[in-house]
Amino acid sequence: MWTIDTILGDITQFPADAIVNAANCSLLGGGGVDGAIHRAAGPELLEECRTLRGCETGQAKLTKGYRLPARYILHTPGPIWRGGTAGEAELLASSYRSCMALAAEHGCKSVAFPSISTGVYRFPLELAAPIAVQTVAQCLEAGSCVERVTFVCFSPAVRKAYEQALNRK
Ligand code: ADP
Repeated sequence: MWTIDTILGDITQFPADAIVNAANCSLLGGGGVDGAIHRAAGPELLEECRTLRGCETGQAKLTKGYRLPARYILHTPGPIWRGGTAGEAELLASSYRSCMALAAEHGCKSVAFPSISTGVYRFPLELAAPIAVQTVAQCLEAGSCVERVTFVCFSPAVRKAYEQALNRK
């Protein structure tokens, strides 16, 4: 059996086997959750990221968690919102799927996600939350060693959107 839940909080402090970073394609750090993860993990994270040579939108790459409680960080660049007709929904689903696949490959039982693309990348929250919840649920239903997925929401508005998406599922 598996569970999906939400929590209000800071993903850098969350004790999952893997946490997800809403990165950019350079994987060399940025603002928002990316900046927070790099600050909390320490400078060795950037050193490892430099060896990865970037990542395409919708794909994911794994690093160690360094000073974080999490063992691994799954870095995925979500899509930048361009109005909705540039494949944004499929790319966002692909980010979630890629992270779930990578987590399973590394034997993770618990994974924590931030709300990918809904900050600086401006993907509308009310569209992103159902995509996130449905994609993760499909991965879990298909059979995975991942048992628990937590959406770590940075504000009550984000949490409300994910709770609504979960309740509709
Ligand atoms: P993107 O570029 O993918 O839009 P952002 O980091 O700008 O990424 O925003 C993604 C989400 O992460 C937003 O909901 C933002 O509020 C949230 N966020 C920012 N810092 C943290 C954090 N420390 N823990 C969890 N979520 C965070």
